[in-house]
Amino acid sequence: LGDHAAQVVFGQKHVTKGLGRQVEAVLTKAQGSYVTLGDGRQLLDFTCGIGVTNLGHCHPKVSAAAAEQCMKIVHGQCSIGFTQPYLELIDRLLPMMPHPSLDSFYFWNSGSEAIEGAIKMARIITGKQNIISMQGGYHGRTYGAMAVTKSKTIYSEGFHPLMPGVFSMPFPYWHHFSLPPSTPTSELSKLSLNQLHLLLSQQTAPRDTAAILIEPVMGEGGYVPAPPEFLQGLREICDKEGILLIIDEVQSGFGRTGKNFAVEYSGVRPDIMTIAKGLANGFPLSGVISKKEFTDKLKPGSMGGTYAGNAVACAAGVAVADAFKEENILENVNARSKELFAALEALRSKPELSSAILDVRGQGLMVAVEFASPKGTGPYDPLRNTSVPEKLSSRVAKRCQEKGMLILTTSVYEVIRFIPALNITKEDLAKGCQIFAEAVEEVVK
Ligand code: PMP
Repeated sequence: LGDHAAQVVFGQKHVTKGLGRQVEAVLTKAQGSYVTLGDGRQLLDFTCGIGVTNLGHCHPKVSAAAAEQCMKIVHGQCSIGFTQPYLELIDRLLPMMPHPSLDSFYFWNSGSEAIEGAIKMARIITGKQNIISMQGGYHGRTYGAMAVTKSKTIYSEGFHPLMPGVFSMPFPYWHHFSLPPSTPTSELSKLSLNQLHLLLSQQTAPRDTAAILIEPVMGEGGYVPAPPEFLQGLREICDKEGILLIIDEVQSGFGRTGKNFAVEYSGVRPDIMTIAKGLANGFPLSGVISKKEFTDKLKPGSMGGTYAGNAVACAAGVAVADAFKEENILENVNARSKELFAALEALRSKPELSSAILDVRGQGLMVAVEFASPKGTGPYDPLRNTSVPEKLSSRVAKRCQEKGMLILTTSVYEVIRFIPALNITKEDLAKGCQIFAEAVEEVVK
C-alpha cells in the first residue's frame, strides 16, 4: 500500500464514492478523546465516530472485555442459543430502562436494523400498517429506515420507491414553521401536535396507524431536543388512539444527554425503544426493546439475523454498562455540559458574532450551535447549482480540523454539533471550545 499519501490515493481510487469523508487520511490509532492519522497528526475528537465512542476510543475495560470474549466464543448465533454476554447485557440494561415495562430485548448490529425491527414489531403488535415519523428525523439507510428518515434527500435521492405506509409531521423546530429561534417551545409543541391531529384526520386514520416514531433529540435534523410537553402530548394521543410510540434513542441514549436516556426528561413511557451507538462504544450492536406482553405476539423465527447480538459486541456492551456506573459518567456529562454551554454563550455574546449565531441548544453533551445562513446560501438544496459558496458550518468544521479538532455539521441548516466523549476532561473540553471559537471568528469575520 505504500506510505500514508499512497494509501489515501489507493482509498480514493477503490473505496466507493458513495461514502462522504471528513478527513482525507487513514485513521491509524485512537485513544480517549484523540485520533491519530497516518501522517502523524493527532486530532481532538468531538465526533466520537458520530456519537458512538462515548467512553472515549479504546476504553481499556471495553477493549479488554471484547478481547477476553474473543477467546471464549465469538459467534454463537442468536437463533441457535443464548450466549452469556447476551444475557448479562440484558441484566445490566434492565435497571437503566426509562420505564419498567421495557423488559423484552432483541439485539441487532446497527441502528437502521433496530428501526426495521421496531417497525416490524409495531405492525405485528397492532395489526396496523402506517408509521408516522418526524420531518427532520433520521433513522438509517436501509429501505424501511430510509422511508421514515426525513432529514436530507441525499439519503434517498435516486433510491425510490421506499417502503410505503409512511407519513410525516413537523418536529417542533422553529424552522419547520418559519418562526424565529426565540419562539417558545410550548408554542412549537402546540403547532406540531395540531399538525398530527390534522394528519390523523386527513391522511392516516388511527385505525390504520401502527406507530409514531421520534428521536427525543432530533439528531441529523439539527440537534433539537423534543420539548417534554410535546412528547407528553404524543403519548396522550397514542394512548387515546391505540397507536404505539417508538422512541429512537440510537444517538441520544447512554448518557449522551445527561440522563441514561433522553426520553427521561419528559417522563414519557416508550412502547418500543431503539438503541445502538454508545451501547457498545464502537462494536456493532443495536437493540429493540419493548414489553414481553407485546413481543410474545411474535412468531419464533420471525426475527433473526446472522450476526445479531454477537457475543463479542455484547461483552463490550456489558463492560460499557459497568464502566458507565463505576466512572460516574453522568456526573461528568452534566459538569462538562455546563462548561460547554457557558463557552458557547460567551461566544454568542460577542458583538461581532451576535447576528451570526442564531441558536445554542441541546442537552448534556449533545449540543449544537446554529449560524444564520450567509446571504444567498440558505438551507442545503440538492437542486442548487454548485456555484453557491460552501456552507458556513462546513467551513467552520474544516477550519477546526486545520487547527487540530474533528467536529461535524448536521442537518440542512447551518448547524455544528458537539458530541465529545462523555468522559472528556475539563482541559480537553476547554481546548475544543477555544479551537471552535477561533475557527468561528476567522470564518465569520
Ligand atoms: N437512528 C438515529 C437517531 C441515528 O442517529 C442513527 C445513525 N446516525 C440511526 C438511527 C441509524 O443507525 P446506523 O447508522 O447504526 O444504522
